[in-house]
Amino acid sequence: MSCVTSREGPGAAPVAVDVGGSQKHGRWQGSVRAGRKDESGGNNVFDLVDGPLSDLSLDCNCNVWKDDMEWGYAENNGPLTWHRKYPLALGPRQSPVDLRGSDARPDTTARPLHRRYNPQAGCSLSNTGYGWKVQISGPTAPRKDDLMFWFSELSGGPLSSRYRLEQFHMHWGGYDNEGSEHTVDGQPFAGELHLVHWNCDKYDSFGEAAAQPDGLAVLGVFLQVGQPLKELEKVTSLMGKITHKGAHVDIDGELDPTNLLPAKSSYWTYLGSLTTPPCNESVTWIVFKEPLTISQDQLETMRSLRCFSEGEECPCDNLNGVLVKNFRPPLPLGNRVLRECAE
Ligand SMILES: [Zn+2]
Repeated sequence: MSCVTSREGPGAAPVAVDVGGSQKHGRWQGSVRAGRKDESGGNNVFDLVDGPLSDLSLDCNCNVWKDDMEWGYAENNGPLTWHRKYPLALGPRQSPVDLRGSDARPDTTARPLHRRYNPQAGCSLSNTGYGWKVQISGPTAPRKDDLMFWFSELSGGPLSSRYRLEQFHMHWGGYDNEGSEHTVDGQPFAGELHLVHWNCDKYDSFGEAAAQPDGLAVLGVFLQVGQPLKELEKVTSLMGKITHKGAHVDIDGELDPTNLLPAKSSYWTYLGSLTTPPCNESVTWIVFKEPLTISQDQLETMRSLRCFSEGEECPCDNLNGVLVKNFRPPLPLGNRVLRECAE
């Protein structure tokens, strides 16, 4: 395994709001100055130069952030608005980022990534209102000696501790040419799977780890449209049972996380954040280079999920309460190190 490292130029990451994605709107012009290229020459970013967005005159009532409004992916509560309630969203270590091949330089210090995954029984699938999530159940009444063989864990590579699989979920778009959160040389994929792990050597729980700079490790897997992702059928076949926010269903049989990962283990890695509020800067990202495929039908089942609970009034937003897309656009890498490890 040979590894390469990249480092952006000196200087702190700018406090910036990316409007290069599909949520660009003229109403932001009151709080931002003209667009420019970021330090890496890629994303268009806009510096926040004046006061809070409440100072803005917004163009319709739907664009006013009410205190009790939940974050989401529609125009009125999408990624550009998250920092109002979640200030970390403007931090210097935010995710996702554009992964640029030209930024990568050799690094021979990384160890091989070690994945020790077990088929997991008793997992549950839920609609979080922001997408679907599979919660890993962990061992069911294991003998103490067997405990370590039941958990699915990740170590090696950029990680100096063991990280235990907690859940996995996915991001997608309204069209097949968008949907991933990370992009490669500016190009998005149709979707991105995230397998979320927490540092079980240093912390006692996922919740405790999620607030620590070395607390979480997330594997990212790009998805492009093609053949169905077979292991994901166990999830997508149940989408009709979790149509509304808060719905959940047990998954029969076993789920094998190994079947959700590409065969080749070449990857990018960098220090980043959760891509959803509260946007904690606690994630070591490991994004695989080799994409997997997902079928059109599998994607369509996800695009019909609702972001509101059954019986609740459909929210007044441009997506009519349907989760047609749930991705955050890339943010500047700034002065962070981007490493590229190849098999
Ligand atoms: Zn995610």
